[in-house]
Amino acid sequence: MGASEHKYNRRETLRKMLGSGGLFAIGGMAWAGYVDEAKKVDLVLRPPGALDELDFQKACIKCGICVEVCPYDTLSLAESGSSIPIGTPYFKPRDIPCYMCTDIPCVVDCPTDALDESLVSIAKENGTVALDINKSKMGIAVLNTETCLAFWGIRCDACYRACPLIDEAITLDLTRNERTGKHAMLKPKINNEVCTGCGMCEHACITEETSIYVLPIAEVKGKVHDQYIKGWEEGDEARIDTTNVYKDTKTNEQSTLDYLNDTESLFEDE
Ligand code: SF4
Ligand code: SF4
Ligand code: SF4
Repeated sequence: MGASEHKYNRRETLRKMLGSGGLFAIGGMAWAGYVDEAKKVDLVLRPPGALDELDFQKACIKCGICVEVCPYDTLSLAESGSSIPIGTPYFKPRDIPCYMCTDIPCVVDCPTDALDESLVSIAKENGTVALDINKSKMGIAVLNTETCLAFWGIRCDACYRACPLIDEAITLDLTRNERTGKHAMLKPKINNEVCTGCGMCEHACITEETSIYVLPIAEVKGKVHDQYIKGWEEGDEARIDTTNVYKDTKTNEQSTLDYLNDTESLFEDE
C-alpha cells in the first residue's frame, strides 16, 4: 500500500469514527476557542510537514497519532496550562530533536492534512513523488554568537557534527583570531535555505544553555521589499520592468528604483 493510500484510508476511518453531528458541533466550538488561543502562540515547533501555524491548528484534530508513531518520542501533545493549544503536537529540540526518519511516519500516518506529505516530498525524474525529510521546514536554527564557544576562539564543533546536513545546513567559517593574532577560529554558520529545523544542533550544543536554537520560520525570516534589485544575481535585473516600484509622480519624478541605483548623485557634492 502506498503512503498516500494509507493516509487516505486512515482519514476515511477517522471520518467514520467522528461521523456524529454532536461530536462535530462540540468539536467546532472547541476549535474556534483553540484557534483564538493559538494566536498567542508564536514560538512552538511543529512536526515535519506541518502547515502554517494557524492552518495547522485548524486542520489538526488532536488525535495524537503522530506522537504515538514517532520512534524517538520526539513529539508531545500540549497539556493544559502551557501556552500551546491543548492537544496539539510539538517538540522541544533541547530535550529530544527530530531525528529525521526517512519514512516520516508522523506525516504519513497523520489522518488529516495538518501534516502535509506534499511539503516533505520531491518529484522524481520518472514522474513519481517520493518522501524527502530533508525538505521539511520545522524551523530555522539561530546562533547566539555571544555565548558560542567557537566565537570565543575555543575549538567546538558539536553542533556542526550533529547536523544531519553537515556542510550544507551548517558550515564552518575559517577566520583569524584577532585577539591572539596567531590562532584560527572555526565559526559555525547556518544556511537558512537548507536547515530543516530538526534541532539536532540545539540538542548537541555543549554550553550550559544552548547557544544554537531552533525558532519557527515566521519568527526568523526577514522579507525585502520588491523594489530592491540585486545587480549581481542572474535574472534579477529583469525584474526592473515588472517590479512594482514606488513612483510619486506629483512630488518626485524619480522612481525609488532609480533613486536606489543612482550612484552618481552620491558624489555630486564632492
Ligand atoms: S520525522 Fe521521525 S523523529 Fe521526526 S517527528 Fe517524525 S517520527 Fe519523530
Ligand atoms: S536545525 Fe541544526 S542540525 Fe538541524 S538541519 Fe538545521 S542546522 Fe542542521
Ligand atoms: S555546539 Fe554550541 S558552543 Fe559549540 S560551536 Fe555549536 S553553538 Fe557554539
